Amino acid sequence: MLRTGALSTAAETAGRRADLPAESHSKSRTNARTAPLLDKATAAYLGLAIGDALGATVEFLTPNEIRQQHGVHRELSGGGWLHLQAGRVTDDTTMSLALGEAILASGGVDAQAVAAALDAWMRSKPVDIGHTVRRNLIHFRDTGNPEAVACEHDAGNGAAMRTLPVALASYGQAAATTILGSRAQAHVTHHNALSDAACETLIFMVQDFLAGHDAGWVREQHVATLLREQPLFAFARKRRDNPSGYIVETMQAVLQAFFATSSFEECLLEVVNRGGDADTTGAIAGMLAGARYGLQAIPERWLGALDPAIRQHCTRQAAALLALSQAGAP
Ligand code: MG
Ligand code: MG
Repeated sequence: MLRTGALSTAAETAGRRADLPAESHSKSRTNARTAPLLDKATAAYLGLAIGDALGATVEFLTPNEIRQQHGVHRELSGGGWLHLQAGRVTDDTTMSLALGEAILASGGVDAQAVAAALDAWMRSKPVDIGHTVRRNLIHFRDTGNPEAVACEHDAGNGAAMRTLPVALASYGQAAATTILGSRAQAHVTHHNALSDAACETLIFMVQDFLAGHDAGWVREQHVATLLREQPLFAFARKRRDNPSGYIVETMQAVLQAFFATSSFEECLLEVVNRGGDADTTGAIAGMLAGARYGLQAIPERWLGALDPAIRQHCTRQAAALLALSQAGAP
């Protein structure tokens, strides 16, 4: 049911930029309407992975520790507490890809399929996994119920960091449909109102950047709504350094960095050098910045350093999820 055609042609163009010098003849064959959309969707996915890989080096460090060890941390250099090879990503990216594959296989967001896919992901021995994710996936194994029990303490960032596949698959769908899809995936591991609010805000922000809206409009539409409905997320006053995995702190650091900067690179450097849960703030900020600024804004040195298999998977999946959205699902 996936429609290919113009979208896949544009995907090849977008993917090639990561692998080869730009080929102008293939660009000229892309559909003028879908190319910018696919460019931004691909940039959002590559931004997520790059932010994850960049931030992983300094995850759990304080800003002072980062300054002492790295000056300004600015390269996909690996290391960190996970001892990663340069360019490797963590759970933020690999869970997103697992979720995206489940959405593609089901033709939409099916909670049971998502839970099974995330459970299979956990069995694959990922390099890292959050404890709320682990606990609720074990609950799924024990009960077969893909919806975790609602819990006010499960306000971690583990569902929000993997929202991108839902944003892409539900692009152009009714907001209510998008929210249903977001909650179906999120509640597998995080059944929590703060997590839901963050997930939905991020999805609508990404979708509006894909649609061509600017940052001021997106902030007025979606960030203002988040702050009105969940005032805990207020981020204007105090600088959020060293953000924890609590979704409120994650979002505060991301939104501060995102709205205080005016390029993809500046945004990612600003957020990961705050330390704390830096792979996840990097991933979320990278997703937003990719959707906002597009592929041309991603530094070549970061695209070149990113794990090639991950780069290809993100590029391919972004196109397939967008094609699914055009086919009318979820
Ligand atoms: Mg991680
Ligand atoms: Mg993290």
